[in-house]
Amino acid sequence: MTGNLTAFLYSDDFMKYYFGPSHPFQPGRVKKTKELLEKSGVLEGAAFLQPTKDATVNDLRLVHTQRHIDFVHSSSMRGFGLLDQGDTPAAPGIYEGSLAVVGATLEGVEGIMQGRFNHAFNPAGGLHHARADRSAGFCVFNDVAIAMRAFQRRHNVKRVAMIDIDGHHGDGTQSVFNGEKTLTVSMHHYSNGFYPGTGSDDDDGEGEGKGYHINIPLPFRAGDETCIDAYREIVIPALEAYRPEAIVHQFGVDGHFSDPLVGLGMSTRSYEEIARMTHDAAHRLCDGRYLVLGGGGYNEDAVVRSWAIMFCTISGQYPKDPAVFESWHDKTGIPEPDGVRGEVRGTVDRLKRDVLPLIQ
Ligand SMILES: [Zn+2]
Ligand SMILES: [Zn+2]
Repeated sequence: MTGNLTAFLYSDDFMKYYFGPSHPFQPGRVKKTKELLEKSGVLEGAAFLQPTKDATVNDLRLVHTQRHIDFVHSSSMRGFGLLDQGDTPAAPGIYEGSLAVVGATLEGVEGIMQGRFNHAFNPAGGLHHARADRSAGFCVFNDVAIAMRAFQRRHNVKRVAMIDIDGHHGDGTQSVFNGEKTLTVSMHHYSNGFYPGTGSDDDDGEGEGKGYHINIPLPFRAGDETCIDAYREIVIPALEAYRPEAIVHQFGVDGHFSDPLVGLGMSTRSYEEIARMTHDAAHRLCDGRYLVLGGGGYNEDAVVRSWAIMFCTISGQYPKDPAVFESWHDKTGIPEPDGVRGEVRGTVDRLKRDVLPLIQ
């Protein structure tokens, strides 16, 4: 790998991943992130816009059943009804939009393995709730799992690690790898009645995979210091123990304190620090092979600023005027309730004692 290049993966067809004007999941945030970075002069030189291609059915088959693929295709052509039991509409064109999203994620895998760049970000990806045989939670096909399978099966990468910081448990991705020694870590809000209801700290894989699937449940309004400490004490040591050859990072930002759906307490400071720690780990452990995907995030302004900050942090390319970068950071936060810090401390200590030692 020569130099240190970061691709911003982008297709105009991302806008077809659209469930309608009143749905919380909006592709406009992807476009606005690109426009903010372009306008600020970040996508010049070592960081650049990388056009992408659509995925094929063969690509989807790395993870999904033919039955599920056919169901999405025909539902999308019909253009009404639902793809899951709840809130993922069969919007017209959603199949084509999904192919664009998955194709961009796979362009990230290919570019990294061919040495065209060492980091890549697909802001439209990170669709971590989709299962092999069904859509779920706004996620039609699971591009996170597809990327991991592409690293393994198309590039003979034996050890691919996946970190998921979305406010919701990365249940779909974990379900694909749960019985395998493939590291998945998810840090998310976990409380009674909160979607999808899984991802407690004792949910750590099955059979061969026992201990290779780490969940860090966070209580309501867990804030920056608590989340950054948990990440530093669990996620980074897990990566060091696993010694990955590539890292896939689901970078959903619905854990932001302003998010209307999640109820965590992170600010842009958490996202900057998490990006910095993971990017450093990628250089230290796997030659910088680091693929970042988007995910949840339902306050558009917070999403765009958080992703822009993450992208500058991993690429090392910043707006020329440092005041512009600083202006993307939150000016305020939200107080963390009493007891949250102690509760997460207990979780972190238990994971350190019982789960981290299982990784080989
Ligand atoms: Zn780098
Ligand atoms: Zn989410």
